[in-house]
Amino acid sequence: MKIEANNPQLKSWLKTDLSSDFPIQNIPFGVAMPPGKSPRVVSRIGDWVIDLLEAYELGFFEGMSISKSVFDNNYINELMALGKNKTRAVRNRISLFMLEDDTFMASKKSARFTYPVADCEMLMPVKVGDYTDFYSSEEHATNVGTMFRDPENALLPNWKHLPVGYHGRASSIVVSGTPIHRPTGQTIPPDSNTPVFGPCRLLDFELEMGFVVGGETRLGQRISAAEAEEYIFGLVLFNDWSARDIQKWEYVPLGPFLAKSFASTISPWIITLDALEPFRVAGPEQDPKVLPYLEYEGKKNYDIHLEVIIRTPNGDENVVCRSNFKYMYWNMTQQLAHHTVNGCNFKTGDMCASGTISGKSPDSYGSMLELSWKGTKPIKMSDGTERKFIQDGDTVILRGYGENEGVRIGFGEAEGKIYPALDME
Ligand code: MN
Repeated sequence: MKIEANNPQLKSWLKTDLSSDFPIQNIPFGVAMPPGKSPRVVSRIGDWVIDLLEAYELGFFEGMSISKSVFDNNYINELMALGKNKTRAVRNRISLFMLEDDTFMASKKSARFTYPVADCEMLMPVKVGDYTDFYSSEEHATNVGTMFRDPENALLPNWKHLPVGYHGRASSIVVSGTPIHRPTGQTIPPDSNTPVFGPCRLLDFELEMGFVVGGETRLGQRISAAEAEEYIFGLVLFNDWSARDIQKWEYVPLGPFLAKSFASTISPWIITLDALEPFRVAGPEQDPKVLPYLEYEGKKNYDIHLEVIIRTPNGDENVVCRSNFKYMYWNMTQQLAHHTVNGCNFKTGDMCASGTISGKSPDSYGSMLELSWKGTKPIKMSDGTERKFIQDGDTVILRGYGENEGVRIGFGEAEGKIYPALDME
């Protein structure tokens, strides 16, 4: 099915600024609670939330054989499970009834099914069953390997042969705006073999992008790199909060555990892979050659500008990182092909994150660990203070967008404010 909703010429009767992340070509999906109403599946144009349940009741999805529960739902999982053909048709239909010169729905335009975004509470859009975090940026893996092991052998021998990952924690993935308390745990003081217990001191963000799976596989079934895009419904900004001091003590030999599982913050709007079509670019050349099951054809990386902002307690916003999703060494189709090559099954709503997305230049590093180089190079804030890691009262904001042919498709924000550690009694 053609993605008519992506046509750069389209204009909506809801006006948007050129700088908006949400022109009519975006048509993302989310879950919102409009004023006085129950949670429901929604979309967005400009600063307006489009109530898809109300649109359904108005007959806007007539003839599509979609049940009301797809939109009368706390999550978009049922929508995603319809499969790409159906969800593409839904997106095209929304675009159609939001068109400036539309006659199809003209008589119903005045009906109340849009709300100012500021009046709506955005909720967790996806019921996430399982979550996997990859480690797929060569620059990030090289920086970490250089800091903690050996600059001469920064990448471990497996790194260029498979997309390294670990199973993360789904229950603590939260939507943008959810308060985050500084985690507590065991850390090891310098020059000691005995751990101490207390609030994490080296709290960090990780700039990542996550993708959500729509569709199920059975146990034993593989998803090939060629098939993978059929299963990738859409993407979010993903902040994989990290406690570096807890991580350092606990991670050998099985990888991250409590240093990562206390929280991950996602942006509330799922931007469909379809909407990101205009931003496809070639990935970096992979040398050495990968095994056949990891080979892929075509452009599988996406040119998405990313930035990280630290909002200090006085309200100032400091951009501390500018990066791009196109830097990823391993792409999403390779990640899914690798994840399922052993027969591991996927379910609708499962989420995979990219790993920290760092570029080559020091201002493109996607974590404080790298930006402050383990705390040796503090970063100046506009209020006169410095940051090596994240302090209580700081808010970390991820933003991202692609821009091409005059169309900007953005992700909005993934924002999280850090509060003091909860009482340890
Ligand atoms: Mn991570």
